[in-house]
Amino acid sequence: MTTEELLDIDRNHIWHPYTSISNPLCVFPVEKAEGAIITLCDGRKLVDGMSSWWAAVHGYNHPVLNKAAQDQLSKMSHIMFGGLTHEPAAQLAEKILSIVHPSLSKIFFCDSGSVSVEVALKMAIQYWFSLGKKEKNKFVTIRSGYHGDTWNAMSVCDPVTGMHGIFGNALPIQFFVSEPKTRYGDNWDDEDISELRETLEKHHHEIAALILEPVVQGAGGMRFYSPRYLVEARKLCDKYDVLLIFDEIATGFGRTGTLFAWEHCGIAPDIMCIGKALTGGYMTLAATLANDKVAEGISNGYPGVFMHGPTFMGNPLACAVAAASIDLLLSSNWKANVKRIEAQLQQELSKAEAIEGVQEVRVLGAIGVVEMKEPVTMSDIQPMFVEEGIWVRPFGKLVYLMPPFICSEAEITKLTSGVINVISRYLASK
Ligand code: PMP
Repeated sequence: MTTEELLDIDRNHIWHPYTSISNPLCVFPVEKAEGAIITLCDGRKLVDGMSSWWAAVHGYNHPVLNKAAQDQLSKMSHIMFGGLTHEPAAQLAEKILSIVHPSLSKIFFCDSGSVSVEVALKMAIQYWFSLGKKEKNKFVTIRSGYHGDTWNAMSVCDPVTGMHGIFGNALPIQFFVSEPKTRYGDNWDDEDISELRETLEKHHHEIAALILEPVVQGAGGMRFYSPRYLVEARKLCDKYDVLLIFDEIATGFGRTGTLFAWEHCGIAPDIMCIGKALTGGYMTLAATLANDKVAEGISNGYPGVFMHGPTFMGNPLACAVAAASIDLLLSSNWKANVKRIEAQLQQELSKAEAIEGVQEVRVLGAIGVVEMKEPVTMSDIQPMFVEEGIWVRPFGKLVYLMPPFICSEAEITKLTSGVINVISRYLASK
């Protein structure tokens, strides 16, 4: 197929994320990707600043992950999980449970991040149902959050920034409280938790769980907030008999400088979602973890079984790659790499603050955010990044980098200087 044929089919028939089918944004055909480099079909090479949306922490086409996939392929790529089990799932479960909070002991494998959020919400509802508290069937969350695109995940996304406002009344109504104002690293202000306290005080009898992204709010605003909020939230959840769900789909596997973001505060959720970098970005796989209280609560009551079971649950190919990816991460210098990237992003990206039109630059772990004063126009700015030799995909006012951990110093500099050049050129063209 020629590139023209590919683009023709794509333009006329294929939907891309958050785009129009009749007036699509331009797309760039990719031939291959290796390490931190994406090679386009026209031969141009781009340094990857996105890790394919938080996922490809080891870079692309990694020999260890390729081998894990090939070895598993020669045995079976998939087998149903109802009534059958296999070593890749058992190995992966053991590895995951060894790196999360020790209170999380049960694991449910899911197809994607959004599904793992659905599963978490269902677990919370079923837990209270089992205990005879059917009225506890709503959720509370903080604004500026993002938890996925499926129905109930959408209902706990920020109604404005979460991109799901148009579904309005069709979605279940949940409780929203203001996002934490105390930023990561700032002194805690107790006032910050008062809205959550008041909401729980008033509505705890109808609330099953609090769900939030710990420390880093991703697609809802790329905000970094005080871990102390989570400590206070845990206390309130305990006081008011509300479960706590951490969505670590974006923050998991080292991105914020700790293996998981809960480590910034040390407190454990009752349920936790992971995904994205779980397979090193190779294929879709997610998981919902639960503590004994939740798992036993669901299993000891009526109907005694957890009501979910997708066709591709525990897919052996994905489990084998995920197990290899965790080994690779733990045996690598991920922590030092993330620290190195953090320091470099801090030093180099902060120069963007001098640009008129830039509101703020913030960095945490291997995440660098340039917040603009006005939203950027994707159709104008996206080709500029490609011309600059970097792959960056902004949204709204946010131009951000979350590169693979294996990026070299030179590759990070290419990304940061590229971002600054593009922002300057883009603003000058307006
Ligand atoms: N939760 C968070 C925090 C996310 O960042 C995302 C994906 N951007 C999701 C859930 C949904 O995951 P998926 O796209 O794999 O369904």
